Amino acid sequence: MVRARESGMTDAGTDFIRQRIERDLAEGVVENGVVTRFPPEPNGYLHIGHAKSICLNFGVARQYGGHTYLRFDDTNPLKESEEYVEAIQRDVAWLGFDWEDRLTFASDYFQPLYDSAVELVHSGKAYVCSLSREEIRATRGTLTEPGTASPYRDRPVSENLDLLERMRQGEFPDGAHVLRAKIDMASPNINMRDPVLYRIRHAEHQRTGDAWVIYPTYDYTHCICDALEGVTHSLCTLEFEDHRPLYDWVLDNINMNIHPPQIEFARLGLEYTVMSKRLLQRLVDQGGVDGWDDPRMPTLAGMRRRGVTPASIREFCRRVGVTKQDNRQKVELLEFCIRQDLESAAPRGMSVLRPLKVRIANYEGPGENLEGPWHPRRPELGSRTLPFGRNLYIERDDFSFAPPRKWKRFSPGAHVRLRYAYILRCDDVVTDAHGEVVELECSYVPESKSGSDTSGIKPAGVIHWVAADNAVPAEIRLYGRLCRVPAPRAATFMEDLNPDSLVTVQGYVEPAIAGSDESRFQFERTGYFCRDSALPETYNRIVTLRDSWRPES
Ligand code: ATP
Ligand code: MG
Repeated sequence: MVRARESGMTDAGTDFIRQRIERDLAEGVVENGVVTRFPPEPNGYLHIGHAKSICLNFGVARQYGGHTYLRFDDTNPLKESEEYVEAIQRDVAWLGFDWEDRLTFASDYFQPLYDSAVELVHSGKAYVCSLSREEIRATRGTLTEPGTASPYRDRPVSENLDLLERMRQGEFPDGAHVLRAKIDMASPNINMRDPVLYRIRHAEHQRTGDAWVIYPTYDYTHCICDALEGVTHSLCTLEFEDHRPLYDWVLDNINMNIHPPQIEFARLGLEYTVMSKRLLQRLVDQGGVDGWDDPRMPTLAGMRRRGVTPASIREFCRRVGVTKQDNRQKVELLEFCIRQDLESAAPRGMSVLRPLKVRIANYEGPGENLEGPWHPRRPELGSRTLPFGRNLYIERDDFSFAPPRKWKRFSPGAHVRLRYAYILRCDDVVTDAHGEVVELECSYVPESKSGSDTSGIKPAGVIHWVAADNAVPAEIRLYGRLCRVPAPRAATFMEDLNPDSLVTVQGYVEPAIAGSDESRFQFERTGYFCRDSALPETYNRIVTLRDSWRPES
């Protein structure tokens, strides 16, 4: 297990939720440890917004001694699937959290949920309503107008019990009846205007098969599952604030001696991307990306494939903190966390993204093996062999025909140092019919070998390179923002997709990289990269090297 300090898994009682938990512990309100749950609906892949909730729920339980349920909210068989159930478990585990044997499903509780519904009907707190979906919506009222009572509101208890049982037995088609709570059609809170608790849905459920043809609603299910699992703090996002009275009403009106408090916190947003599963699903379906794990996606699967480390996501969530203000975080903060994690962890290597050929006219012989450390500040990682020879590739951008003043790289007549190798001078430039530079004719300075340089020459700068005969061709994928605008809107985000979000180049990596068991590297001067998990000799750029984020900005 990763150590807590560097992993961002714990955080002293600074946010309002941790303060609340500490108070509850101090006052003895919570006697047997903190119990939380992370309750995803298996209708899509998890994204970095979910990571915030995961870090919070698992984080506080770990911090204060307790445990966390991974509970699938699988109450809508039409939208949910086993594929998502598996993907979500993979992602939570990858993030570094362990639910031990506490993997549950709302569907595990279909029977007790139904029993509580019968109880509500018995006590006159719920009734079977035979209005259509549209009629229910039309009679719900508005923010300023109260709702109108359903003509079925005063059905006798015995009739309700009979209808509910027959709904359950599958006697009625979808939409014929619903079970509604009998609360207050004039409540200023629309969620309290006789909300629907159960609807008929003749659909095969991925876990319960055809055992049930009525399915409970989220609001009804969630609070009861929390109580049944002994959750001590039910942490959810702000949009559920208006649902809290219903959460409390259900638990107050059934025979249940546990009543978890629901506590709301702000959702996490991220600039230049959308977050909701519904929109991400559309992006996948309409081919805006190549699937849920496309490295441009804000999904955990996409970020994993891109090479982002779980520790950096946890650190990002820790820095974002837990507040009541909805917020859209800067991508630069996430990138800062990624760089911070990879800076010491990732071995260094050289890769040329846009190759320009170099021929060293005065280099004799078959070539030689040079050496470079895997990491400049971590000698314990050892070094790698760098084959050097007469033909090299350097980065096209590192050469300028007519360099600006103070150019620190290569140009006609200039000297430059090849990293861990020799000083090189550009003697001649070969161009094609369009004036494009196609090759450089160079000479090297034999006595300038890195580490034993006696040449006395001061090169303009240091550039990276690979030996043409040994370098391994690689596809290198460079990612930009998913969207062109920092705050894409749900209605128009497909038009705001960044056409340059993926730029693919055919480059080369040094042989030691291709042969290494590591998956993440810092390629000198071009960024942090990760070997793609699915495609051979393909490298995804995780992030560039330069930080533009500052704590105060
Ligand atoms: P989405 O809108 O992306 O589909 P959701 O809330 O419908 O998200 P769920 O599967 O219901 O997704 O979410 C599981 C948990 O994750 C919930 O407790 C929810 O509050 C939390 N969550 C979802 N999105 C975010 C977010 N952006 N920031 C923080 N928590 C989130
Ligand atoms: Mg949802």
